[in-house]
Amino acid sequence: MESILNISQEQRIEVFRRLIAFDTTSANSNAPAADDLAGFLEDHGCQIARFESDGGKKVNLVAHKGPDCEGGLLLSGHLDVVPAAEDGWHSDPFVLTETSDRYVARGSADMKGFVSLATCLLAGVDATRMKRPLVGLFTHDEEIGTIGAQMFCKQWDKRWHLPTSCIVGEPTELNVIRMHKGHLKLRIDVQGKSAHSGYPHLGSNAIETMGRVISMLSSLRKEFESQRCETSRFFPQTPYPILNMATVSGGSAINIVPDACSLDIGIRVLPGQRSKEAMATLSRAIAEIDGVSVSLIGDSPPFLTPESAQINARLCEHTGQTETVAASYASDAGPLSTMGIESVLYGPGY
Ligand SMILES: [Zn+2]
Repeated sequence: MESILNISQEQRIEVFRRLIAFDTTSANSNAPAADDLAGFLEDHGCQIARFESDGGKKVNLVAHKGPDCEGGLLLSGHLDVVPAAEDGWHSDPFVLTETSDRYVARGSADMKGFVSLATCLLAGVDATRMKRPLVGLFTHDEEIGTIGAQMFCKQWDKRWHLPTSCIVGEPTELNVIRMHKGHLKLRIDVQGKSAHSGYPHLGSNAIETMGRVISMLSSLRKEFESQRCETSRFFPQTPYPILNMATVSGGSAINIVPDACSLDIGIRVLPGQRSKEAMATLSRAIAEIDGVSVSLIGDSPPFLTPESAQINARLCEHTGQTETVAASYASDAGPLSTMGIESVLYGPGY
């Protein structure tokens, strides 16, 4: 690698350090970090495409180097990080700190380390020696439901070919992961009728109705747990779609019959399953209960890259991995798979 790069080790650490210093917690704008990367990449011969959303607060960045032709490799990483609100930090989470055996900072593993490596590879590779394109895709808001990658699926205007082989550099301890479950997030609302609790016959208690919904969802969860499909064997602990009742809210005072109640649920479908079918099953089941509606909060699709796909086969050969490894969390590989991009998750850290 050293021979094809003209980016020094000091420059690589500097790219990493600068990226860490942007507080890209998902609630914040990622535009300053994206623009800093874009400037560096442009200075090093990359073509940049910048896709804004949320009034410019959020940016998906594409950096392209090499010929504009079929094939090549896409390196994808998200720029956002989870909040650094937990106790136990011994250093500023937004200052890259070197300890005896590692770099410590918020997002150093997930996944600004990989993004920095991908940036330096893009910057350092000699375009005149490339036969296929190398493309970087840096997204926003992965941590809150792969929102940036889903947006990118709509934004991409095909101004260049996008490689159909992709490494999403999530921290996998350098395991090659070729599938994960999806995450469908739904809100169930019950509309009742408010009344003074002294005259409950004048109202309709939404919480009581939600109780029936919860009971029905418990039955559906058990039904899901008996389901198996072709990819179940790769999830030995949970070989089925998971249904989690996560949050519930309703009611305003102890002497009021509540007129509304809502419940948020998450369903993790298996690779190869379709979230639309899970949503249809659920909608059918609760259609029997009056005053209940279901709405979509978010849908991170599962992904399933064939074992024989070039990106999986070559990376497994390179690392000597013979077993299929699957993940239970969702990632940007899900939305990218809906664009026909074959991905693996592969990155440093855990
Ligand atoms: Zn991540």
